[in-house]
Amino acid sequence: MRVDGIFLRAAIPASPQDACFPTHTDWTAFNSTLSGQLIKTTPLASACFPTASPSNPEACEYIRTHWTTSTLHASDPSSIMMPMWASNSHPIAQGPCTPTSKHCDMGNYPVYTVNVTTPQHVIGAIHFARERKLRLAIKNTGHDFLGRNVGFGALGVWMHGLKGMEFFDDFAGMGSAVTVMAGMQWGEVYDEVAKRGLVVVGGANPTVGSVGGYLQGGGHGYLSSRHGLAADNVLQLTAITASGALTHPTPQTTRHTMLMISPASSEPHEAFWDAVAYIHGHLPREYINSTFPSLHISTTEKQYGSWMEAYKPNIYPEPVGHNSLIASRLLPRAALENNFAAIRSTLVTAFPKVGMPGMVGQLVAAGQVSKNRHLRTAVHPAWRSAYLNLEITVTWADDAPLETVMGIRRYNSEVSVGALEALARTGGEGEDGVGAYVNEADAFTKREDAGKVFWGGKYEELPRVKERWDPKGVFWCRLCVGSE
Ligand SMILES: Cc1cc2nc3c(=O)[nH]c(=O)nc-3n(C[C@H](O)[C@H](O)[C@H](O)COP(=O)(O)OP(=O)(O)OC[C@H]3O[C@@H](n4cnc5c(N)ncnc54)[C@H](O)[C@@H]3O)c2cc1C
Repeated sequence: MRVDGIFLRAAIPASPQDACFPTHTDWTAFNSTLSGQLIKTTPLASACFPTASPSNPEACEYIRTHWTTSTLHASDPSSIMMPMWASNSHPIAQGPCTPTSKHCDMGNYPVYTVNVTTPQHVIGAIHFARERKLRLAIKNTGHDFLGRNVGFGALGVWMHGLKGMEFFDDFAGMGSAVTVMAGMQWGEVYDEVAKRGLVVVGGANPTVGSVGGYLQGGGHGYLSSRHGLAADNVLQLTAITASGALTHPTPQTTRHTMLMISPASSEPHEAFWDAVAYIHGHLPREYINSTFPSLHISTTEKQYGSWMEAYKPNIYPEPVGHNSLIASRLLPRAALENNFAAIRSTLVTAFPKVGMPGMVGQLVAAGQVSKNRHLRTAVHPAWRSAYLNLEITVTWADDAPLETVMGIRRYNSEVSVGALEALARTGGEGEDGVGAYVNEADAFTKREDAGKVFWGGKYEELPRVKERWDPKGVFWCRLCVGSE
């Protein structure tokens, strides 16, 4: 397959129906090389189905009542938080095994998963997958919105158990630093960092993984305007390559606010849109004070003794376990300031008329994110001129008919994304172009557009980097570099 002048191998993984697929004996032998860390997949919600053996009503009740919590899915080897991606039917409508599914089957969940507690487990999994031509599905917490953490017939690699942190008073002359193992979640990292009076750029949600998809996508949070994206703050990485070798890619020599606006109903009235458009148009200013016919907006300033004192009361449980889609664009200052009419009409158009819509404007760019434009990271250059990551979200009921789901999907990709893209362009494309945050974007972005939308001008180089480090296509995920 040709991408930007080079050829990438199309991965054709073995499937459980193939004669070459590992037998029970092969899996047992592999498990013994891992000191028993291999787990045969049982979909998390299978306890709720009559096929469960033995049937387990208590476990089912627990799963039902905790299904929308991220900790339930994060602590299971294969469960993911957006269950539709585990469905192997096309088009995707519902997860293959949720407490409300009609049936329970394996869908796209990996067949077996390596419960990683040491880097050697990862190396073992990579060798086995490469030799047996298996798809590798890497899961850390399972938060991914784009379905990049599952794979039909795959060997799963579950990073959650690879815990640990190490603090350095002065790392290579660059000051305080912390080493974070791949299974750490932001809540765990924040607690340890705070004990030492330090701060670190991490996600708003404490259960998101600190290293996996978050960091590879760029990673934003309450502190990114002040200190840059999480990826900007990486001093050194220790990675395991597709050949199963440990490597330390070249160190970078570099050394907030989240706005949630939700209408009370899915059909917000005129004053709501006036207010939202007004707020977005005034974000580049420090304070917003205004009165609309039925809405008073005021901004107050509060001083906290420490970052954790400010953070902890602002942790809110974000429900997962349902299906959702996102339409998003990174908006530059020029698309916001003095642009009331365009913002208002964009929001009215982009807000879905079907399903359960929502809107999140994340003030996670500008400031140090802009100042870090010289850094050699793969994040979309649009981050460097962005002020806001604006997301329109939509969820739907598990039992929504397929036509409804397809309508929601079309609206999200065509209307909502189109409207946000047009708004971003009113700011002038500039050298950075227009793009989206890869971790929080339309999961049905067309493959041929994904490079430009998620990485912009940086995409010219990325397939070559992928080919250099992974010539056999061991690592693959949907909409990832080289997935074409
Ligand atoms: C409720 C919620 C809140 C969120 N809040 C934020 C936020 O505040 N800021 C923000 O920037 N993003 C946020 N996100 C988006 C988040 O960054 C992405 O979902 C991200 O992919 C999560 O990474 P993970 O490793 O935790 O999840 P996973 O779903 O486990 O993994 C995501 C991807 O990373 C790969 N991966 C995981 N670990 C590794 C590894 N060690 N090596 C190689 N590949 C790996 C997986 O294969 C998969 O492709 C949020 C998402 C949700 C659902």
